[in-house]
Amino acid sequence: MRAPWLVVIPALACTSVDEVPSVARVVDARVLETLDGPMAWNPDLGPEWRPDNVELPPAPGRDAYVVEARAADADVDATRPAPADDAPSATGPRVTGWPTVRRVVIVSVDGLRADALSTLDVPTFDALRREGASTLNARTDPGRTVTLPNHTCMVTSRPTDGPDGHGFTGNGVTDATLHEIHGGYVASLFDVAHDRGLGTAMVAAKPKFSLYGHSYDAEHGAPDLEPPDDGRAKLDVALVEAYDDDATLAHGLDLLAGGRTALIFIHLHECDSAGHSTGFNPAPGTPYAAAVRRQDARLQRLRAALGDDTALIVTTDHGGSGYGHSDPALREHYTIPFLVVGPGISRGADLYALNADHRADPGIARAAEDEPPPIRNCEAGNLALSLLQLPAVPGSVIGRPALHLRRAP
Ligand SMILES: [Zn+2]
Repeated sequence: MRAPWLVVIPALACTSVDEVPSVARVVDARVLETLDGPMAWNPDLGPEWRPDNVELPPAPGRDAYVVEARAADADVDATRPAPADDAPSATGPRVTGWPTVRRVVIVSVDGLRADALSTLDVPTFDALRREGASTLNARTDPGRTVTLPNHTCMVTSRPTDGPDGHGFTGNGVTDATLHEIHGGYVASLFDVAHDRGLGTAMVAAKPKFSLYGHSYDAEHGAPDLEPPDDGRAKLDVALVEAYDDDATLAHGLDLLAGGRTALIFIHLHECDSAGHSTGFNPAPGTPYAAAVRRQDARLQRLRAALGDDTALIVTTDHGGSGYGHSDPALREHYTIPFLVVGPGISRGADLYALNADHRADPGIARAAEDEPPPIRNCEAGNLALSLLQLPAVPGSVIGRPALHLRRAP
């Protein structure tokens, strides 16, 4: 059940997250469903979806709505002192001499084929690969190549299926929480950071990402496990700008400028939407390629705002072929990029080479059997926590220990 204070607010009313009144509020997912039309037009279902048969909600003065989940009494303080040098982390004891990462930004570029980055003129992606550790041969969730299951993998560092899975298999706007679907609380990277006093945010460009806003709001988040009590809302800010990547990025830039948020998850939709409407064709000159290049330009803007103390993880939920991506057995769907750049991270490093002790490059296979697992987008959550010198997500099984990010001396 939603709390009675749920309201809809047009995005125009909060050009900066810092201007949002400190009153708890979140858009009811059921309201969003109404606003966005029937769930039958789920963009992740494939070729039947076209922009011209989607009726976006009428918006007063603007085609975007905001989901905001902010604990009224949350004492968000990203400037709280970093953990002591011997603080436990997802990778074990703190690495002596590792530069301080005080903030991590995860960007999920929805529907980004890995081969688009090797065939297109994408200077920012190229710079990330040149200046950080990366692979263009990462993998999605072991069993699924659709949006919400894979994003839930990223934030929980669990697979979707199996005894350790988060169990969220849906892919449309839902009123349910992750915990209701799972049959028990599902912790996220936001839990770990929030409970230790760090500011957290998710800004996304699809309405169905309201799932995370209400799963980790003040009503459905678990009690704070680490004193002081920062409240139960694991996400201090949860924003959805429906199908507007520029507005979504603007919120991310506002959060960076505000300096109070140590963990920021940004989801951008355009490649996925272009793929569904015109084909996931990464050849130069296609609408899909143009979308990839616009994401490259957005990443350039984002990167310019990061500062020296911020690490950036860029990955995606799935690739695509034809007009869809739902078949998890297709190479074009399960092959994805995973890029990390930031303080102390080796430049121009191949993530499989850095992690030969516990990850195996699967070649063109979905995953190599009887070998260490491939690098997966599901690693993002625990890797972000590791960079912040925080413990792994409770219940997580992927990305622990976290990826090594620099060459051995
Ligand atoms: Zn899709």
